[in-house]
Amino acid sequence: MSVDMLTIPAKCVTESRISELDFNNIEFGKIFADHMLVVDYKDGEWQQPEILPYGNLALSPATSAIHYGQSVFEGMKAYKDANGDILLFRPLENYKRLNISAERMCMPELPEDIFMQGLEQLLRMDAAWVPPTDGCALYIRPFMFATDDFIGVRPSSSYKFVIFTCPVGAYYGQPLKVAIEPKYVRSAEGGAGYAKAAGNYGAALLPARKMQEKGYHQLIWTDAKEHKFIEESGTMNVMFVIDGKLITPPVSTTILKGITRDSVLTLARDLGYTVEERKVSVDELVEAHKAGKLQEAFGTGTAATVAQIATIHYNGADMDLPAVETREISNRVAAELEKVKTGRAADTHNWVYRISL
Ligand SMILES: *Cc1c(COP(=O)(O)O)cnc(C)c1O
Repeated sequence: MSVDMLTIPAKCVTESRISELDFNNIEFGKIFADHMLVVDYKDGEWQQPEILPYGNLALSPATSAIHYGQSVFEGMKAYKDANGDILLFRPLENYKRLNISAERMCMPELPEDIFMQGLEQLLRMDAAWVPPTDGCALYIRPFMFATDDFIGVRPSSSYKFVIFTCPVGAYYGQPLKVAIEPKYVRSAEGGAGYAKAAGNYGAALLPARKMQEKGYHQLIWTDAKEHKFIEESGTMNVMFVIDGKLITPPVSTTILKGITRDSVLTLARDLGYTVEERKVSVDELVEAHKAGKLQEAFGTGTAATVAQIATIHYNGADMDLPAVETREISNRVAAELEKVKTGRAADTHNWVYRISL
């Protein structure tokens, strides 16, 4: 079947649900925009994409993704600038990473035009759902999962790729209290930690809940062999400022290669800060804190951009970090990154993908 990418056929909603949305009080992840992009993979090829009213999918109880976990996703955000243009931030990086995740989970590669053109056309149709309000955005969830109705263990021969979106409010998270995880692991060398695979999230929920029961918002993962080196913070990459240097663990097979991570490091280098991508041991953090040199700690990810960490718990003691207002590097870089994403600063790295309506 030939895939007509000039215009993706669309079945529009008869009546938009946008009046249900209060742009001044957006609840995260509950109201979805009017349409979704859907495309099936079968007989060894991707079929014609379609845009449909957002709604339920009919699935067999034997759908293999549910049983054996071939399911990968992405997360990105669209903003509106002062002219009403829609701005996407580095969407090709999300596209490439989706295929890296798919490859690890033995799933087919998605062609770039289905992702990019599907995304663009979907956003044009649901442009009214991109909040114009400062700090708010339209969250975009592209995902792919296995759809064979077959209960034997094997890679599925059919898949579905879907994109839906939902408006999200500004992230006003309080600084996080996190605890270094001494027992559970998120990923191990040779595993699938670098893939944005659904199962990685499922396996992380119990350890996260146990930390929450102890009074922490989130945990910091450590390496699977010795629990000696820092990996990530919950579902974010993690960075520290020690003695004026921005330090973060290097990406590997166990660490997800965050687009925010890369953007923060790039902007920090642009601003003239020393950036080190290297292993960070728990001992180093403890020593630096004792010496008064642990100045900043924060997570990076699409949801929050930069999520400040107030306290790090390790081995029975809380390490309290300097007040968020005093944190020069993370505050400067976060503000700069927000400006680039929303079209209020020069886009010197060509990160912004603009959709003019
Ligand atoms: C998605 C994700 C991140 C952040 O990636 P961004 O591209 O910055 O949103 C970090 N760690 C994990 C485990 C993730 O799933």
